[in-house]
Amino acid sequence: MDILQSINDFNEAKQVIPGGVNSPVRAFGSVGGTPRFIAKGKGAYIYDEDDNEYIDFVQSWGPLIFGHANEVIESALSLAIKDGLSFGAPTEKETTLVKQIIALSGSAEKMRLVNSGTEATMSALRLARAYSNKDDIIKFEGCYHGHSDSLLVSAGSGCATFGTPSSPGVPNDITKHTFVARYNDIESVRACFEQSKNVACVIIEALAGNMGFVPADKKFMQDLRALCDEYNALLIIDEVMSGFRAGLKGAIGLYDVQADLVTYGKVIGGGMPLAAFGGRADIMDMLSPVGGVYQAGTLSGNPIAVSAGLATLLQIKANPTLYEHLEVLAKRLIKGLKEAAQSYEIPLQVDCRGSMFGFFFNQKEVKNFDDAKCSDTAMFARFHQKMLDKGVYFACSQFETGFICSAMNEMIIDEVIMKAKAVFGEITHEIESRI
Ligand code: PLP
Repeated sequence: MDILQSINDFNEAKQVIPGGVNSPVRAFGSVGGTPRFIAKGKGAYIYDEDDNEYIDFVQSWGPLIFGHANEVIESALSLAIKDGLSFGAPTEKETTLVKQIIALSGSAEKMRLVNSGTEATMSALRLARAYSNKDDIIKFEGCYHGHSDSLLVSAGSGCATFGTPSSPGVPNDITKHTFVARYNDIESVRACFEQSKNVACVIIEALAGNMGFVPADKKFMQDLRALCDEYNALLIIDEVMSGFRAGLKGAIGLYDVQADLVTYGKVIGGGMPLAAFGGRADIMDMLSPVGGVYQAGTLSGNPIAVSAGLATLLQIKANPTLYEHLEVLAKRLIKGLKEAAQSYEIPLQVDCRGSMFGFFFNQKEVKNFDDAKCSDTAMFARFHQKMLDKGVYFACSQFETGFICSAMNEMIIDEVIMKAKAVFGEITHEIESRI
């Protein structure tokens, strides 16, 4: 595969952009090789600057549930742009979008729009601290909630990939308020509550997508809710990735556990920078200008992002079998990958919910970040590189989640499985010929 243009683009980018990328995991650090510079996308496919075609399981890290350059979103954007990009004043569309999110998800009474998932979780934390009048928070090892100071502790994905559990520049005075529990281990959460005695909230990805794909156990989520009530702490469920991805009602719908505050991002912006946090009205009404908790944004709820979000949610609403369809494809993919790996005696753990899926090169089922870290990342890197060369674009880290979009079909999935089988064969052959 010729990737000369991507190589040139990457070298040029590195001169002016740290690491050549505007978000670290994009640099392919953990899998090696050159990140592809993408020129365009259509449906299930992306095309790099050398005009190579890839089946895309990243889908912009989750937002594009209808695939690239979706025509409905495109027309909504073209119309919105004609009326101006941003006013810094309220618009009717913001209320419509918030009403849609609330009606479809059923997870909040009031909501505020922001520009990124990082902002959503950061604001939810501030609100939880103000509401509880307590300072400490509990998060889970391997869960990522964006890069605000309080939450950049034992965060998965990019941090895991680069082996930096937290970042230089984050003051200890801030992270001393962040207690880290073990995912799917309720006793570790109780231990944090006991140690702190001052916990404002627990924040969790109920379907963890940033240590690879690791769903929480149902009982664990129920016990977590009960523990939050026992210690008078709020439960924040971070649905930035799982919201409108795992199902219409996100992870909350699958677990049937109520959150006090919930955060959304990715899908609700249809590919534009848009996120939200919401929850019980009595908590949300503590926000300025009703209450004293300050939170603001120049471009928050801008009409362009809101139009893309609305066009996405209206398509979701009009398509009641969407998530069943996406899950059928996800199940077909992971079953095929597992069987392909098994035929070469390569251990592969797989799982999916709705349109989210994951696979680990691991002997054991993965229940937490320690398990995830036991995965064979060298094997993942080889697999990733070879699949890329065959035109299949998986996320460039073992500690990420894959996404199915509605533009995919069974033929595409079967093509990927066939290629994966060939890759497992090549890897096995290479290993054997080295012995
Ligand atoms: N929360 C979760 C669960 C995420 O997966 C992410 C990003 O991947 C974030 C928060 C941060 O969102 P953003 O990258 O939009 O700031």
